[in-house]
Amino acid sequence: MSNSQSLTLVRASLQQATKILSAITDTPRLDAELLMAHALGVTREKLILSGLDHATPPSFDTLVDRRMHREPLAYITGTRDFWTIRLKVAPGVLIPRPDSETLIDAAVDHFGEQGPASVLDLGTGSGALLLAALAEWPAAKGLGIDNSDAALAIASDNASALGLAPRARFQKGDWAGGLTGSFDLILCNPPYVETGAELSPEVLAEPHGALFAGGDGLGDYRRLIPQLPKLLAPSGMIAVEIGASQAAAVTGLFDACGLATTTKQDLAGRNRAILHFSLGKPPEST
Ligand code: GLN
Repeated sequence: MSNSQSLTLVRASLQQATKILSAITDTPRLDAELLMAHALGVTREKLILSGLDHATPPSFDTLVDRRMHREPLAYITGTRDFWTIRLKVAPGVLIPRPDSETLIDAAVDHFGEQGPASVLDLGTGSGALLLAALAEWPAAKGLGIDNSDAALAIASDNASALGLAPRARFQKGDWAGGLTGSFDLILCNPPYVETGAELSPEVLAEPHGALFAGGDGLGDYRRLIPQLPKLLAPSGMIAVEIGASQAAAVTGLFDACGLATTTKQDLAGRNRAILHFSLGKPPEST
């Protein structure tokens, strides 16, 4: 009873899939490994260390096929790692990007080990920023706001899966409209892509409400930045993600509300976050 499919070893299937996937992605081997790990139900590390001589599971070809149709890898595997946590993701939420870790990095620089007591995450999506902050600081509590019910359900599942539910609340909202209270750390990754911008099919598979923000990409900043000053606690910090070319425009919107800011770069050296510190002089731009 020979079935050539069941005799194909992981090692060979990975080589073949890498070749096929190179037509659509710059990271074909990584994609192939993550899809294989998903098909086998193991981590990529385990796959590489001890799984290369197993038989390829029958579901692998289907997964490669989905990826060839430009489905984002994280939607196929259903997870994405962000900062120190693993998040469940699905088509209802933006896939967390390493770029957004710039905001957490800035907060760690500011608050150190002691951390903020309270965190607000506006447009929480999968919960990435809020849950990364709560995972970082075991005494912190936080609130995540989103205008999408699908996102709130996923964020809440993520909080439970990570054991963070007792310290995380989620609430439907239009940015900070109607919100009261004061927060030590305010995080926000709003949509900031110009409507109509050319994006890859993978990015276009993500919720357009989390990506596009009007003709100049600044529409949501204009609405949300004026809401922030009254919600910020003394000694608090605001970190808002921006597109690489938006530092001057978003700095201007903070200025108009009387908030001094600095700009922080991501690991690739692009402007990625605007920071405001509520007391004293802001630290030097990094
Ligand atoms: N950084 C994302 C991208 O360029 C956009 C995310 C956002 O608008 N917040 O695809």
